[in-house]
Order: sequence, then C-alpha cells, then structure tokens
Amino acid sequence: MKITDLKCAIIGNTPVVRITTDEGISGYGQAEWSKPYLKPYVLFYKPLILGEDPTNVERVMSKIRRLGSFKPWGAAVSAIEVALWDIAGKAADLPVYKLLGGKVRDRVLVYNGGIRFPMEGDSSPENFAKNILKMKNLKEGFSIIKQGISLHGQMADNFDKYFYGDISWDERNSIIFENDSKDQWALSQYLPFGGQITEKGMNYTLDCIIAMKEVLGDEVGLALDCGPGIVPHDALKLAQSVEDLNIMWMEDMITGDYTPYVLADLYRDVTINTSTPIHTGEQIYLRQNFKDLIDKRAVNIIGPDPLDVGGLAETKWIAEYADLNGIMIAPHGTIDGLIGLAAHVHLAATLPRNYIALEYPVPCHKWWYDIIEGLPDPIVKDSFIDVWDSPGLGIKFREDEASRYLDEEDKDFFN
Ligand SMILES: [Mg+2]
Repeated sequence: MKITDLKCAIIGNTPVVRITTDEGISGYGQAEWSKPYLKPYVLFYKPLILGEDPTNVERVMSKIRRLGSFKPWGAAVSAIEVALWDIAGKAADLPVYKLLGGKVRDRVLVYNGGIRFPMEGDSSPENFAKNILKMKNLKEGFSIIKQGISLHGQMADNFDKYFYGDISWDERNSIIFENDSKDQWALSQYLPFGGQITEKGMNYTLDCIIAMKEVLGDEVGLALDCGPGIVPHDALKLAQSVEDLNIMWMEDMITGDYTPYVLADLYRDVTINTSTPIHTGEQIYLRQNFKDLIDKRAVNIIGPDPLDVGGLAETKWIAEYADLNGIMIAPHGTIDGLIGLAAHVHLAATLPRNYIALEYPVPCHKWWYDIIEGLPDPIVKDSFIDVWDSPGLGIKFREDEASRYLDEEDKDFFN
C-alpha cells in the first residue's frame, strides 16, 4: 500500500488531516481546534511521505518526526501519525488499540476540562463554587473536574493587584489583543506577566479552591490548572497550603501551555517538598523531552497531549517509561475534538496501570456530533467511555453533511 495524498481542511476552525492510499483506504487525524493556522505546516510534510507504505507507521514517522517541535508545532506531525494508525487499522481490519498493544481496560476514565460554563457575576469564591456545581451536575457524571486558577483562566486578570508590581488590565490588553486575531489569542495569553503573587492574591486563590472543594466534597476530584508562569516558591507555597484538601493535581504551575521548554529541576524542587500531586507536560514534544522530567521524578503526574507530543505510539512509550518511574499519566486533550476523542480512547485502552484519566475532548461546534459517526451514544457514562471495536479509529465522516462545512478551497477534501 502506498500513500497517494496528504490533505488538510479547516472544518469549523479544526485542522483535519486526510491521508489517501492507492488501495482506496484513507485515514483521518486532527489537531486542536484552536490551531487553524496549522494547515500549511501539515502540507509541508506531504512530499516527505508520498509513496511510503502508511502501515509502516514508525518508518513514515521517522522521516518527519524530527521536523516538529513543542506546542503548537508538534500538532501537525501528531495529526499525521493518528491518520496513519487509522489506515493501518482499517487495512488490518483491527481497531487501533490492537495495533498499540491491545486492551488493558474495556472502558476508559475521562475527566472534565472542556465542558465549561461562563462565570456568572464577578470571580468571587461564591461564583467559583456555583460554577463548579454546574460541572458537577453534568449528565456525564465526571469523577474528576479541572478548573483554572491563578494564572490559568481569568483569575489573576480579574483580581486587582494579584501580583506585586502588576500592570493594569488596560496596559495588558493593549499588549495582548491589539493586533491579535481570535485564534492567536490562545498563543498570546501566556505572555510572561506576573511575578510574585501578593498575599491578598494568594488568600483569594485559596478561598476559591476551598469554595470549590466544599461543593465537590469527596465525591468528585478537583484538579487545578494553574499557570504557567508561577514563580517556584509561590508554586510550592500554593501546593503546600492545599495539602489537606486532597487536590487531584496542580497542573502547569511553572512551565506548561506554549512554553517551549520544561525546567524539570524547578518542578522537582516543588514536587519533593509537598504531598499535593504536581502535574505538567501538555506542551512537550517527543519522549526525549520527557526524559529529564521522568528520570528526576520531577512531577508526580505527566499530561502529554497525544495530538501535540508526536502521536499515539509516542504517548504510549512515554506512559510506559513514566510507569517504570512511579509517575502517573493524565493525558491532556480538552480541545482535541471528535477525531481526537477517538484517538485518545484507543490509546488510553492500552496504557499501563499508571493511567488516571484522559481530558474529555469536545469539538469546536455542536454540529461536529452530526458529521461524525461511530462514537458511543451517549459517549460518556458515569465518567467512563466504553472502548469500541470497529477497525481503525472506528469513526467515519458523514461526508454529505460534513461537506457543507468545507471552505471553497477544500471542496475536494473527501474526493
Ligand atoms: Mg493545562
């Protein structure tokens, strides 16, 4: 079998990859739906993989893997990897999880970081509590919920003098938003503002965490996405001050989203001095860049995103190596969409016992549920997804329906 084409269409903001073959089988992958600008970067790899046998996934990947980088640039390589597994599975008439080593579990636990509600009113602890109650009451029955605090989300922005020497909101806005499109916002929100958190800011953060824990009790786990950009001694102070609250994990306090480096030593200083589990890794590309973090046991939990780290096999390898070192894994995936969801489920079914839960991916538009078939209905039951057995990723586009959302230049995407 030979690869005959590599296509990329932007379907409702989502970069979707389609690899076609001379045997009529094609495979799909996607990137996070915040990254429509990736299209030319996906197509960059086309000449490198044309003519290759897509079922030799590793051989194809070895040609392009070195030409990627930390988030967002590893996403193009990762989407291609997923599409190759989809083809390999369809060609072998086997679900992708079989090709990744087979099932460890029949259903995979998911956590909620994607189904969110706008904060009603100001960002007071009471409103944080009301907001998380809505997530607790979701029909999916999530057993772990993640909320953004401190530098993640709007907490620091909405609090006067969160940092010593904080710049004003207007000043910050003029730097971030002036020349940015909506899609670039995701890239610019982590500019290095901040510094040491004020005593008031620290107390407010703790009050919000306590208010959320009072709602969730010991029935639903609370994970906190915190940064990146918290200075290490504040990170330690924050982690130590919630030790009696049994937080699931504190994510990306120092480095994380869109920081193209790891700084494992700084994480280690925090991790070995607190009983609160410390988590990072969604921006990291490739196993080599997880080595330091894992060898030094610098965090308790890693969170690679299979659609950024280099793909499913890459994540599997990292998970196994983490397991050898007593480190857990909770893959990131909040905006990986429905093709991403399928990829995550096949992968999670095969991960070792250090698997906690994957972050339940949601699509950018509700109509995505009408253009993809093959997912369970309902998708999530009691915070679990049953692993399905159809070949490849086991999902299909309803092409007639999906074609309505193609741009003019992508009209031949399904041909
Ligand atoms: Mg995160």
